Amino acid sequence: MIDFTLSEMQETVRQMVHWLAENEIRPIALEADRTHQIPDAFLRKMKELGISSGAISKRAGGDGDGAGESADKKGVKQTNRVAVIGAEEMAWGDPAVILTLPGPGLGGPPVEFMGTAEQKAKYLGIFKDDELRWGAYGLTEPVAGSDVAGIKTTARRDGNHYVLNGRKCFITNGARASWVVVFATVDASKGRAGHRAFVVQKGTPGFSVGKIEEKMGLRASETAELVLEDCRVHQDDLLGGEKHYEGKEGFMGAMKTFDSTRPMVAAMAVGIARAAYEKAVEFTKEHFDLGRPIARYHAVEDLLARSQRRIEASRLLVWRAAYMADAGMPNAKEASMSKAYAARTAVDVLSDLVQVMGAAGVMNDHFVEKWFRDIKVYDIFEGTGEVQRIVISKRILRDLKSF
Ligand SMILES: Cc1cc2nc3c(=O)[nH]c(=O)nc-3n(C[C@H](O)[C@H](O)[C@H](O)COP(=O)(O)OP(=O)(O)OC[C@H]3O[C@@H](n4cnc5c(N)ncnc54)[C@H](O)[C@@H]3O)c2cc1C
Repeated sequence: MIDFTLSEMQETVRQMVHWLAENEIRPIALEADRTHQIPDAFLRKMKELGISSGAISKRAGGDGDGAGESADKKGVKQTNRVAVIGAEEMAWGDPAVILTLPGPGLGGPPVEFMGTAEQKAKYLGIFKDDELRWGAYGLTEPVAGSDVAGIKTTARRDGNHYVLNGRKCFITNGARASWVVVFATVDASKGRAGHRAFVVQKGTPGFSVGKIEEKMGLRASETAELVLEDCRVHQDDLLGGEKHYEGKEGFMGAMKTFDSTRPMVAAMAVGIARAAYEKAVEFTKEHFDLGRPIARYHAVEDLLARSQRRIEASRLLVWRAAYMADAGMPNAKEASMSKAYAARTAVDVLSDLVQVMGAAGVMNDHFVEKWFRDIKVYDIFEGTGEVQRIVISKRILRDLKSF
C-alpha cells in the first residue's frame, strides 16, 4: 500500500512555509515584478527566519534543512521530500521573489556534493552571519546551454593558479553573488573529462558582471552575464581538488546535483500552477455570464477539472522522485519526468486559466497575468523540456537493453 500522508514534520514544514508565502511573499510580489526590486527589509526578515535559497545540510556544516535529515517512520530520511513540499508552498507565494532569497542558491549543491570539507566551510560558512549574501551557479554560455559538454570557458594551469577565460550567461543572482561556481574546461579535446568546477569570488581581478537581462517573466529575479578575462583562481578553489576529476565521478558529480534540484524546480512549477488554479476558481465563482457563474458552464468546469488533474499528477511525480532521492535510489529518470511533466503542465494550465478569466486574466494587476509570464522559464532552465525527454528516453532504452 502506498501512503501519501505527510509525516508530522513534513506537515509542520508545509504549514509554516505556506504561512510565510501567504503573509510575507505574496504581498510584495506584484510590486517586485514592476520595479525589479525586492525590499531589503523583506530579505532581512527572511534571513532572520532562517529561510534561504538552497538550504545547507548539517552534513555540510549548516542547519538549513536539518529537520529533513531526521528519518520518517520507515527509517528513510526526508530531506528531499521536505525540500519539495517547501518549494511548492514557496512558489505558491511567488516564483520570482523566492529565486532572490539570500543563500547559496543553485551554487550550493555543487559545493556540497563536490567540495572538500575546507571548501564547504569556506563557501557555505559565509551564510551563517547576518549579512545578506548570495551564491550562484555559472554553467550556461552563449553557445552552450542544453549542450553542457560544449562549454568553451577555458581554465589554463599556471603554477598554483588556474587562469579562466570565457563568458557565462543567464546566471541567476550572478551580479549580487559573493561567489559563483564556474564550469570551465582544462582541455576541450577531452570533452566532459576536461571539465572542472571552480569557485570564483566577487572582486577577483578579471571577473566582472556584463549585461543584466530584461526578461518577460521572473522580473524580480536578477539574471546576469559574467565575464572572465585572465581571471586567476587559486588551485584551492577548484571544487573537490584535481584528484576529484581523475575518476568517472568528476564532472558527472556536477550532473548528479540535478537529481535533487530538478524535482525542486518541478515542485515550484506545481506551486505556481496551483496558485493560479485557486485564483481562477475564485474568479469563475464570482464572474457571471447570462445570469450564471461561469464556473457552471460545462466548458469551464471541464477546463478546471483538467487543470487540477494535471497539477495533482505532477505533484505525484515530484514526490516519487524526491522519495527515491531520500531512499538513496537512482532517480535521474524520475527526476527528469517530474521536471518535464510539471513544467509543461504548468505552462499549459496557466494558459488555460488566463483564458478562463478572459480580459481580467491579461491585466497586470492580476497575479495570473504575472505567473503566466513567469512560468515559461520553468520549462527552460534546469534543463529544457526537450532535454528532460532525452534523459528519460536514454534511461528507458538502457533499461530495455538489459532484457
Ligand atoms: C531566468 C533564467 C535563469 C537561469 N539561471 C541560470 C543559472 O543560474 N545558471 C546557469 O548556468 N544557467 C541558467 N539559465 C540558463 C538555462 O539553464 C538555459 O537557458 C537552458 O539550459 C537552455 O539553454 P539555452 O538557453 O542555451 O537554449 P538551447 O540549449 O540553445 O536550446 C534552444 C532550444 O533547442 C532545444 N534543444 C537543444 N538541444 C537539443 C537536443 N539535443 N535535442 C532536442 N532539442 C534540443 C532546446 O530544448 C530548446 O528548445 C537560466 C535561464 C533563464 C531563462
